Amino acid sequence: MSRNPCELGRLSLAEVTSDSHSNLSSDVSSEHLCFGFESNRQLATGAMAMSLLQGVNPNSPQIKDYVHQYLRFLTAHEVGHTLGLRHNFHGSTLLSPEQLNDTNITHNLGLVGSVMDYVPVNLAPKGEPQGDYFPIIIGPYDQWAIEYGYTPILANTLYQEKQVLKEIAQRSGEPELSFATDEDFWGVFLDPAANVFDLSSDMLQYSQWQLDNAIAMWERLESHSPRAGEGYDQVRRMFETIFGYYQNHAENITLYIGGQSFNRNRIGDPNGRLPFEPIPVNQQREALNTLQKYVFSEEAFQFSPQLLNKLAPSRWQDWGNPDVNSSLEYRIGDRILWFQKSILEEILAPTRLVRLRDLELNTSQNNSLAMPELFEALQNSIWTEVLEADKGIEISGIRRSLQREHLNLLTKMVLREVNVPEDALTLAWFQLKQLQEVLERTLEKQNDRMDAYTLAHLEMTRDRIVKTLGAQLQTN
Ligand SMILES: [Zn+2]
Repeated sequence: MSRNPCELGRLSLAEVTSDSHSNLSSDVSSEHLCFGFESNRQLATGAMAMSLLQGVNPNSPQIKDYVHQYLRFLTAHEVGHTLGLRHNFHGSTLLSPEQLNDTNITHNLGLVGSVMDYVPVNLAPKGEPQGDYFPIIIGPYDQWAIEYGYTPILANTLYQEKQVLKEIAQRSGEPELSFATDEDFWGVFLDPAANVFDLSSDMLQYSQWQLDNAIAMWERLESHSPRAGEGYDQVRRMFETIFGYYQNHAENITLYIGGQSFNRNRIGDPNGRLPFEPIPVNQQREALNTLQKYVFSEEAFQFSPQLLNKLAPSRWQDWGNPDVNSSLEYRIGDRILWFQKSILEEILAPTRLVRLRDLELNTSQNNSLAMPELFEALQNSIWTEVLEADKGIEISGIRRSLQREHLNLLTKMVLREVNVPEDALTLAWFQLKQLQEVLERTLEKQNDRMDAYTLAHLEMTRDRIVKTLGAQLQTN
């Protein structure tokens, strides 16, 4: 899978070791540039949400408190490294979505299990009271890890010291102390709970709330005007920041499809869990449905021409301003397609298809999302206009582009241009064959009931499928 939140550059900024006892002291922690980059984007998103959704003035005491919460969290995270703590990317799963904005809980137990996670801004769903935006106290895992590393132990022998440490470590199976670090996450993307910039024990619910929040922010941006004298580049930055937030939460949801929980339990640990636990099939289906609604449907991308014509770049010449050398116009069609394409490629990534194949062996009957179901669900969702056509067809530009990308991916599989399981190749071939048959019927019956774009698109799609299937037969 290609997803890496650090694509902008993974840079080790610090290596910190501790001289305290135990294996904790030998850990090497590293910080990455992406934490700063994405964390700043989270900070900007939260401030923008306060402005657009709550009408908070940028100079108000609420914004000051908000920034202080962020700085307190950031400082705690970095001080944690200096004390020898490694990242804990499982730390954000402490609370349910409903508990996140209950300050009685977050001020006493914590917003997250560990501030050593990359924690996103916590935004309440529409209509619900807002709690803390960032953790204002350290979490139960942090307290426990420091207890292990720094409790003074009056022992005469190493054996006695080890026994005391062992007693503290015995709590490791408690849910509040769950742990996953860099090597459980980077380049792996197996466990939706071991993730960065996610929040709550139910990411499906939380991410859907955030997708709705992003849509609400876009809607408010329609009527938002910069103050007199300010440039329209502010609107462009806000628009793009919301898009980044939207994409982040859609990507988080993809982790559920073919996902597995991974924990570091050892034999004899009290909770009796095995290291791998497949994500329940109903959650995988829910993830797929959510992506169909928020990514492949065009409902989320209903922007007025008035808003799109405000998206001007900054003309301020400065080394820190990338806008000045980017294209003048905001290429909205390309931006939407790039987003949809990246999510579609995630879902059909070869690694994920291998996992889905193997999960049929790793799960009991009827508890896995089989590849045929995934391929069919995507086909039905992306080619709806053709599959359900009965009174003429009109396919929008956004949907035609998405359909081309879907066709490209299936074609690459059939022509063996990507290394996917043989069953995936066969299913791609089958989906193309099915689509070809539907297109033949549709073009014969309805070619006078569609616009020129749609007719050309469908004719070309049919032609490409015929050639692909013919080429595939010749190569076999
Ligand atoms: Zn860090």
